[in-house]
Amino acid sequence: MRLDNSRQSDNVEDRRASGPRIGGRGTIGIGTIVLALVAMYFGVDPSVVLQMAEGPPTTQQAPASRPPANDPQAIFVSKVLGETEDTWSAIFQKDLNRQYVAPKLVLFRGATPTACGTGQSAMGPFYCPGDSKVYIDLAFFDELQNRFKAPGDFAQAYVIAHEVGHHVQHLLGISDQVDNLRRRNPSQANALSVRMELQADCFAGLWAQRADAARNILEGGDVEEALGAATAIGDDRLQKQSQGYVVPDTFTHGSSAQRVRWFKRGLESGSIKQCDTFSASSL
Ligand SMILES: [Zn+2]
Repeated sequence: MRLDNSRQSDNVEDRRASGPRIGGRGTIGIGTIVLALVAMYFGVDPSVVLQMAEGPPTTQQAPASRPPANDPQAIFVSKVLGETEDTWSAIFQKDLNRQYVAPKLVLFRGATPTACGTGQSAMGPFYCPGDSKVYIDLAFFDELQNRFKAPGDFAQAYVIAHEVGHHVQHLLGISDQVDNLRRRNPSQANALSVRMELQADCFAGLWAQRADAARNILEGGDVEEALGAATAIGDDRLQKQSQGYVVPDTFTHGSSAQRVRWFKRGLESGSIKQCDTFSASSL
């Protein structure tokens, strides 16, 4: 990625040094184990977080602080977040005639309080609609490279853009509608979750297309890095790795092929209308 000319976002909240640590080794329970399983999928579904979070939601806020100047990984995240802000602001204005309200992005280590309950690194990066914040433990990027074999800066940018995609769904009221549908049709919960996740992937692709058109951020190999990440974290791939077989009905994020397809659809069309996974007859 070319981010030399990209500005850093002011919406990064760095809790890595001062953040409270909750749920240490002594408190591992079933919830934590389930969370650890979900972790492999990254981008935990908000309602899942709500169900699984141990303890009551907390409104405790750490003071926002910018990442230090000698921390290239945090600066990278901050620049990618800035790119999502500029890009989505333009899309909202031009395509939707609305104002974009940017999310905060919280850097944390281990565990941190969120409006969706205690966020834990094991969950992977996630978005909490209750406080409109994206939560990331940067250790996930090492996992993405080493465990999921999806290296590259644009693989990381895709992860951030996917979570911001969930924020866009929240702003557009899509998350609320889907939550209601899920409550009324519990048997459809997984299928709806897949459509949500694939839309977030499509939004990530859409972001990449628009940001590149505006500021030329993509370099050779970047798209392949994102597709590599999308492939690595498909439900079928992950299930095959963890249990040796695949159960499509239990998918919550979509198969590798579906994730790649929807990311590409956003990337190639650059159109928010093309990201309507809910009306699509086939995914
Ligand atoms: Zn997600």
